[in-house]
Amino acid sequence: MFQNLKIIIKRQKRLILIFLFTIFLPSVTLSIFGLIALRNESYRFEQQFRENQINLIDTIRTVISQQIGELENEINSLVRTPSLMNKEYQEINTLVENHLEEHHLSGQFFLAYGENEPMFPPFQGEESGFKSTQVKEFSSHQKRKLAEAENYEFIQKNYPESISILKELLKEIEERNLQAQVLNHIARNYMKQDILDKAMEYYTEIIQDYPNTRTPSGTLLPISVHLQRVECYNRSGLQEEALKETLLVFEEIIKNQHHLSENQLSAYVSMAREKFINIRDATPEMISSDTAYLNDFENFNNSYQKILNKWKVISTLKNECIKDITEEAVQNGEFTEEVYRYSKRIGGEEFLIISSQIPDKTKKLAQGIAGISINNTYLKERILAELIRKAGWNAEDSINVTDMSGQIIFGTKTASSKADRITSMFKDNFPPWKIEVSGNQTKPFLFSAMFKSYYFWTILAMMAILGFGIVITGRIIDHEKELLKLKSDFVASVSHEFKTPITSIKALSERLFEGTVKDQKRLKEYYSVISQDAENLSRLVENILDFSKIEEGKKQYQFEETDFIEWLEETIRNFFSRTTGRRFVIHKPEKDATSRIKIDRNAMKLAFNNLLDNAVKFSSEDSKIRVIHEKQENKLLVKIMDDGTGIPKNEQAKIFEKFYRAKSALDHSTTGTGLGLTIVKQVVEAHGGEILVESEPGKGSTFIVLLPLFT
Ligand code: ADP
Repeated sequence: MFQNLKIIIKRQKRLILIFLFTIFLPSVTLSIFGLIALRNESYRFEQQFRENQINLIDTIRTVISQQIGELENEINSLVRTPSLMNKEYQEINTLVENHLEEHHLSGQFFLAYGENEPMFPPFQGEESGFKSTQVKEFSSHQKRKLAEAENYEFIQKNYPESISILKELLKEIEERNLQAQVLNHIARNYMKQDILDKAMEYYTEIIQDYPNTRTPSGTLLPISVHLQRVECYNRSGLQEEALKETLLVFEEIIKNQHHLSENQLSAYVSMAREKFINIRDATPEMISSDTAYLNDFENFNNSYQKILNKWKVISTLKNECIKDITEEAVQNGEFTEEVYRYSKRIGGEEFLIISSQIPDKTKKLAQGIAGISINNTYLKERILAELIRKAGWNAEDSINVTDMSGQIIFGTKTASSKADRITSMFKDNFPPWKIEVSGNQTKPFLFSAMFKSYYFWTILAMMAILGFGIVITGRIIDHEKELLKLKSDFVASVSHEFKTPITSIKALSERLFEGTVKDQKRLKEYYSVISQDAENLSRLVENILDFSKIEEGKKQYQFEETDFIEWLEETIRNFFSRTTGRRFVIHKPEKDATSRIKIDRNAMKLAFNNLLDNAVKFSSEDSKIRVIHEKQENKLLVKIMDDGTGIPKNEQAKIFEKFYRAKSALDHSTTGTGLGLTIVKQVVEAHGGEILVESEPGKGSTFIVLLPLFT
């Protein structure tokens, strides 16, 4: 095996050298260079990626600091406006409403003067500590009259009397707020008597003519009037009107959100909600016919939720933050223009607050602070998200912002290694956040870069060429190996082929020489065997000589015009005359005048002798060999048929290759060299014909020779 390889390498030295110098070495060298270049390229990409990371962080920091800075400037100028210095609440309210509320980043505004309760304009409900308008009260005379009417209404249940006192009182009152309240009392008395149209008349008047009326306790009259009207419609059986009216209650609540305390807000909303739900459940068909009612209801609920959130912020500011800030900001009472930044995580939410001192009139001392909480949601979900999106990053898994304790504020924390991560803080540590860009994207990023690189494709092409070269060389070596084996088999079988007839000729001729064999029949038999062996030897030599000529391309044919059929029959008979004891039959068609063709008689004889010899060799002695010849169109067809061993399908193509002998031939140690059919094919093809085989193992074989007729 190893020996074989050595021989092959020796024989194919040139091929191997060509492969080494034209394919192997250039491919390997180029691949190594390519790999080095690719490594550099990937390093460059990594650097670029890092730069991108840093740029992104810088942009985030700059933009956010800028936006917060703008808001700080706003606060700083606001504290020095006369309205804040002089505590002109009405003015402050308008300022905040018109100015700060529009700033996207601004959350809740607050004011804290000295030790006073902090205020949260524009919210003016009690809890916000801020009331910009004062409500007039009834005079003591009017109060007495009102009490009298209430006595009739609540104790004596004498509603007409109560109404007449109230109507009288109405004439005396000039203040619109108070007038509206008396009108409300009158309507209530009508309601109690079930005089609904009258009640409705008064309620409508209040809504239309006294839209901004407030009770002495600061609540808004129109909201409770709308609620009463719902009741009115309900009692009159006007369900749809009642439903619409509940929605009006909601509208009024939302519109007046800044004028209600948190408690008032939730009380009104729950009343309106209850009424809406009652009507909805009582009249499902009405609701389903018009989805607008439900949509409106849903929208109002959402708005209510938002207001509640604002109140939550107010209470957090009030209870948890403002005291801290005031202590820090107004330490020695001297006024400074500094902006105070405050941050705290409360209940899972980050509070970022900026504030400034409010100077007194001399601008020397601080009389309090004004500040604003930063709208964190906007900061995260709009500004941050927008920046990251614009930078073209798949943000969620590669960028995150955490607070100092590592709690996530934006994004999701990735488990990428520290080495791949870039962390950065905000300027002045405000917001006190860490921005982290993870290197998670480095790898896919590199891969995509790699596919774009020429080096990568060069390496790939080189590898492919190398692979191709290896396969081809491998095949050549395999083929050589096979040939080598066939040749060594050939040498063994040729020596055997020679040895057998020579031994037989030698032994028989010695017997003849001794002169002991007298029997004529015996003598004839001896001579025939000797002649047959000599014929076999001669064919063997002829085969080998022909083959080597063919191999070297030196074979030359001498074509002579021949009556082919006649020639063929004679050749067959001659063959069988030497083959003792084999039966044969020739099926001939009507003799045809056109069977004359040009052939090299010697070569053709060798070919047919080989075919006949195979037929004899691979079939049993008692079987018959049949030869059929006929004319087919412009071809002559000769079939040589035997009932012998046959040839398996997968070997049928191979038997025409040089030295090839089928497995069964080897197994049964039939004599042969594997050259016979190679020569037959060469000869037939040299005559412009072709050779085919039809065979089935165990049933015999038919070799078909087709030769062109030249008419
Ligand atoms: P060989 O010297 O072995 O006969 P050939 O080239 O003439 O060489 O034939 C190649 C092989 O083809 C044979 O070894 C045999 O296996 C197969 N073969 C050829 N002719 C026949 C046949 N008539 N019947 C069965 N096998 C055959």
